[in-house]
Amino acid sequence: MALIKTQLGWIEVICGSMFSGKSEELIRRLRRAIIAKQRVQIFKPAIDDRFAVAEIVSHSEMRLPSTSVSSSEELLGKLDHRTEVVGVDEAQFFDAGLVAACQRMADQGKRVIVAGLDKDYRGNPFEPIPSLMAVAEDVTKTLAICVRCGSPANNTQRLVESDERVIVGAQGVYEARCRRCFEPPDRAD
Ligand code: ADP
Ligand code: ZN
Repeated sequence: MALIKTQLGWIEVICGSMFSGKSEELIRRLRRAIIAKQRVQIFKPAIDDRFAVAEIVSHSEMRLPSTSVSSSEELLGKLDHRTEVVGVDEAQFFDAGLVAACQRMADQGKRVIVAGLDKDYRGNPFEPIPSLMAVAEDVTKTLAICVRCGSPANNTQRLVESDERVIVGAQGVYEARCRRCFEPPDRAD
């Protein structure tokens, strides 16, 4: 019997603070896959409607068409079995089922590239990214520039008062801060 070597799937995670270039890096990798004539599908959570609904967009205005889904189950439902590369942006807004969904797609031989925040505005791990980092074959941590001092920044500083974990927004609501300049909100809040 002939040995047929099937495509080996894997998971890549791109994570870091806001403004660190996660979306840019995701778009760069997906564009290269498109240039290589691979079948690409891109998903983002329906919650993130800051920019165009049917696109993922970086803060530097790089963009690619995408499909909005409200759960990891819906993502799997919209997956075309012929797709070779799957991109997921703003993964921190997905449910915990995203980890199993990415594992399943990688097990099927797909290259899965997931971008998202690894920490919330308090500096705590922001699931499902930490779990995805554990199962991924490759992890890239991107750094922004601290708006206070110009150092590499790994934290997302919230500028408005709120106990909500998620406030969708960017400029004026959040800014990138380094370890020294980051002021996490009082945990006793
Ligand atoms: P992320 O997806 O991590 O939020 P994006 O890829 O959308 O980041 O945007 C990265 C771009 O944001 C940078 O290339 C730069 O043009 C812009 N930018 C704005 N503020 C900052 C900052 N403080 N540090 C780095 N880049 C910034
Ligand atoms: Zn700083």
